[in-house]
Parts: sequence; structure tokens; C-alpha cells
Amino acid sequence: MAEEQHLRQMAEQLARIVEVSITLNSTLNLDELLQFITKTAAEILDCEAVSILLYDEKRAQLNFVASTGSDAQRLATIPVPLENSLAGQIFLDNTPMIISDMKSQKRHYSQVALQVGIEVHNLLGVPMRIKNRPTGVMEALNKRYGSFTEEDVDLLSILASQAAVAIHNARLVQALRQAYNELSATNQLKSNFLALASHELRTPLGIIIGYASFLEQESQGELSEHAKQVLNAAMQMRAVIDAMTNLNMLHSKEMVMHRVAVPIQNILHNALASIQKLADAKGHQVILNIPKTPLSIKCDPDKLTTAFVNILDNAVRFTPDGGTITITASLTPGGDMLVSISDTGIGIAPSHLKKIFDEFYQVEPHTTRKHGGLGIGLPIAKGLIEAHGGKIWAESEGPGKGSTFKILLPKLSTAALSAMSR
Ligand code: ADP
Repeated sequence: MAEEQHLRQMAEQLARIVEVSITLNSTLNLDELLQFITKTAAEILDCEAVSILLYDEKRAQLNFVASTGSDAQRLATIPVPLENSLAGQIFLDNTPMIISDMKSQKRHYSQVALQVGIEVHNLLGVPMRIKNRPTGVMEALNKRYGSFTEEDVDLLSILASQAAVAIHNARLVQALRQAYNELSATNQLKSNFLALASHELRTPLGIIIGYASFLEQESQGELSEHAKQVLNAAMQMRAVIDAMTNLNMLHSKEMVMHRVAVPIQNILHNALASIQKLADAKGHQVILNIPKTPLSIKCDPDKLTTAFVNILDNAVRFTPDGGTITITASLTPGGDMLVSISDTGIGIAPSHLKKIFDEFYQVEPHTTRKHGGLGIGLPIAKGLIEAHGGKIWAESEGPGKGSTFKILLPKLSTAALSAMSR
């Protein structure tokens, strides 16, 4: 009969342990977890109190992080030294300890019991380990009937190892959250700085551009040529500032779209006009293969033009002199708009086709600086196209075989379009 009761009790205890393990896996709030573990351990072992002490490496001491049955807040303020304390001995020996008669113990660190006013009669302590390295101690005090048994050692050891893993995971998550928050703050700082720097640079640059173009037009000969060079350099700087501003705008998630219906032909012509000089300077032939009938699209014309300028600018830069750039636009059978920009340039290896849309990614190491650029043209184009509900991808047969960038802009019903326009 006694045997049957013992078996039933064991089954109940094991069921509680399973319950603990399920709860531990379903919550990452460290305080909640610790409270739950100590409370359940006290119930399973049928004892007055259970505490968890964690090792503080910096101070080489154990600290109470959770406890039942006594003033947990008070306990948290009482450090336990490794020397001359039972918890310290359990931690240092990395083995469980049962003390059936507390009075016979000299080593008892009485400070703790004294301060929280608890009289300890018997005690069981087990080490908490991660990969067999002790990280703390779990203690059970004052078994209600009799003293702690080897069975209790096994039960508390299981709970202690579960607690150790749960604490480890919760701490990892905490560290990850903190790192994420710090990163977000740094990112915000970077965005603010970029916005401020762009703004501060734009005004003086506007003045330089204004006076340089005035000088270029009004003067002659060498002076006009020098003014032209100043103008070109200043325009390049403005393009860099514009790119930084665009990237910031994408990050800020505050991008406001001003949508109007315009023919895609207008957008492509405008984009082409921005890079025409550069294309001419490199002796490229640009073929525009777009239908005469206007293909209307509801978009933010400035933003979509910026996206196409970035792609065309790359096609010009990454194609050796005398190349061909072909722009086509058509409607798919489903009514979406497909624009394709092909070049006869240096091409892209398959392993880079996706990565080139990542911020600051450049196939050529930036140390060689053969083609220049910041590595943000394509991510900006992608962000702007996606803001229009579209998609962009790159195709290439490989290095030396040219590249094609395809942009798919979704067909939008009139109702959806009017709902989207602000
Ligand atoms: P950037 O052109 O300033 O380097 P982008 O984000 O516009 O930055 O492009 C990222 C990278 O993708 C480029 O550095 C280049 O390695 C590759 N790339 C982009 N367009 C082409 C192209 N038309 N042909 C070959 N490589 C290209």
C-alpha cells in the first residue's frame, strides 16, 4: 500500500516537472520564470522555502535572485560569499549537499537566516549548471516531514538544470534586446546626423552651383572652362547628398507619396535626360524601345524617376566606353508595367545578383574605386519601387556578358488608385 502511494506521489512530481519545463519554454520574462520555479520546487519537495542564488563573477559572490517563504526583496540585498557558506561550498564543489541537522553545522552562513528571521532545521542545495559549469545554487529549506532524501536531490537537480537553461536563455534574449535598442539608437543618431549634414551642405552647394553656372555663361575661354569644372564637381557632390537624403527618407518610414497619373514614357525620358551627358561622354548608344501610345501609371513621378536614374547611371558606369543601353517598357498580359534596362557592360556573377540590392554592397571592393559610387543607388531604387508596390531584380549571364534590370510595377485598379492618392 505504501509502495503504491509512493509511486503515485512520484508520478505527480514528474508531472509537475513536465509542467515546469513547458512553462519555462513558453515565457522569457526572467522574474516570472524564477518565481514560478521556486514556488513549484517548494510544492514538489514539500518544504518551507526554495531560493535561487546566482554567481556574480565580478564580485565573486552569490546573490539571491528569487525565493519563496521569506522576504525575497530583503534577501536580494544580502550577498553570500563563497567562503564560509553552504551555498558557496555547493557552488565550489559543484555537487549537491543534504544537511539533516542544521545545528551540527559550523559552516552555516548564519547572517542570511538571521537577517530574514528564518530558522533553518534542514537543507538541500544543488548546483545550477550550464554545460557542467556551475552558474548558481538552488536551495530548499526545512522539509515539512522528515529530512531531504536522495529522491529530493534528483528532483531539485532536474529543476535546477531547467532553471539554469531558462535563466541562460532569458539573459541571452535580454542582451539581444539591449543590443537591438542600442543599435536602433545609434541608427537614429546616424539618420539625424545625415539629415542635418545634408541640409547644411545643400545651402552652400546651391550658392556654389549658382555662381559657377553664372560664371560659366558670362565668361569666356579658360575662365569659363574652370567654372564648368567647378560646376561639374559641385553637381557630383549634390548627387551624393541627394542619394544620402533618399536613403534617409527610406529609413525614416515617413516617406510621403504624391501620386499622379503620368505616362511611363515621361518618367523614362526625364531619367534619361539626367544621365544623357554621362552616356555621351562614354560614347554609349542609348536605345529607347517604348511604345508611342502613352502607358499611364499612377506614381510619385519624382521618386520613380530617381529609381530609374540610379539604374541608368549604373548601366552607364558599369559599361565600358562605346556600349549599348536598351530601355524597353511594355504591359504584361496581366496589365502590369514591365520596364527593362539592359547594358552590354561588365555583367554580374550569379552569386551577386541579389546582394547588389543590399545597402553599401558593391561587387568591386571599394578600395580599388574603379567605378566609384557609394553602394546605395540600387537599395534606394528598390525601396522606391517597392513603395510603389513594385518589384526589381537583376539578370545577367555572368561577368563580361552585360546586365539587365527588370522593374515590374503593378496594375492598379482605378478604385485602388484613388484610395492611394493623398
Ligand atoms: P554603386 O553603383 O554606387 O556602387 P549601387 O547600389 O547602385 O551602388 O550598385 C551596387 C553594385 O551593384 C555596384 O557597385 C556594382 O557592383 C553592381 N552593379 C549595379 N549595376 C550594375 C550594372 N549595370 N552592371 C554591373 N554591375 C552593376
